[in-house]
Amino acid sequence: MKTNGSNANTLRNDNRALLLHRIRRQPVSRAQLAKETGMSKSAVTMITNDLIAEGQLREIGTMESRKGRKPILLDIVPDFRYAVGVSLHRKRIQVLITNLKAELVGCVEEHTERFTSPEVAVGWICRTIRQELERRRIPLSKVVGIGISSPGPLDYREGVILTPPNFTMFHHLPIVSRIRDEFPLPVFLENNAVLLAMAEYSSGAIGDYRNTLFVIMSHGIGSCLIREGQVFRGSGGFAGELGHISVDPDGRPCPCGNRGCLEQYATMAALKERFGFENYADVVDAAYRGEGAAMEILEYQARYLAAGLVSAVNLFDLDAIVLYGEFNYRPELLFSLLSQRIHQQSLITRVHPVAVLPSQLGPYADAVSSTAVVLNQHFSQKLINTEAPA
Ligand SMILES: [Zn+2]
Repeated sequence: MKTNGSNANTLRNDNRALLLHRIRRQPVSRAQLAKETGMSKSAVTMITNDLIAEGQLREIGTMESRKGRKPILLDIVPDFRYAVGVSLHRKRIQVLITNLKAELVGCVEEHTERFTSPEVAVGWICRTIRQELERRRIPLSKVVGIGISSPGPLDYREGVILTPPNFTMFHHLPIVSRIRDEFPLPVFLENNAVLLAMAEYSSGAIGDYRNTLFVIMSHGIGSCLIREGQVFRGSGGFAGELGHISVDPDGRPCPCGNRGCLEQYATMAALKERFGFENYADVVDAAYRGEGAAMEILEYQARYLAAGLVSAVNLFDLDAIVLYGEFNYRPELLFSLLSQRIHQQSLITRVHPVAVLPSQLGPYADAVSSTAVVLNQHFSQKLINTEAPA
């Protein structure tokens, strides 16, 4: 790694990063790049030609255009470099490799309960990273970095997992320094909610909203606010605890110390406890058939979720909410109930629309998103590997 000191180099890197980030979200023509970034056409041509010569970009097919001319589009070369991800879960640990388009190249997993200590787990992680890279003949010089995802709370700056509930073995583990001892690569630790939000944003699939709240529904309810493409972290990096917004001050006590937290009502576990159903998909199918009892469950869910989300909309003037996680089976009905309530109950929706959208992330998103920080840093031109091959 080296840092560039001169202003000219910094400006050059900033412009490269601006173009790479845009191209990464969707293939685009040189003319469109100039229009969107405000850079001159000649500057765009010069920089993109350099990136093509380096092997980072390629020209791909053409785009239909109304005038009949078909401009050439620029796209990222996916296998120019790779990223390694380590996804830590309460139930499993995954080691994986992605290309620069965050597409899964390989993944190995092991049950978390198999590991008797953090040392044994870190040993397995490091061995598996080496084996997987060797098996695919990927030299370390082609790896841009290692990303680790973990349940929070964690200290992403220091690379230390703090005290996530039901994750005792990893409490206070300085996992970044442990892994950096074994690999001469940039290593990043990040909260899995933040990583999923970054992955969703950089995929470009959900459009160009300015203030988007990504909501992750699983054991608990986490969220991450992305403002103008940047993660909002709060003063200590703990922002986004949507699940602990109280929707009833006299409600059920929550382990966090508060009462009536959203998590106590709107997670799958909370709904199953209250309504006693086995399979959520069956409930949704029944609601689509118009069965009253099933509809009541979805109405209840929408009512509580909306109570939490309206507070977030009002507080941050959101223009979009994206939901990821366990409620993505035939989600249109739930989303329309949710959307209606948010529109009825929020001040902001009288001024501008607030989109409520299901996540577009694929089935392996949870694991693959562990490389999101590494890839962002790579495309920001902040990881310069001096040993990289030409
Ligand atoms: Zn709580």
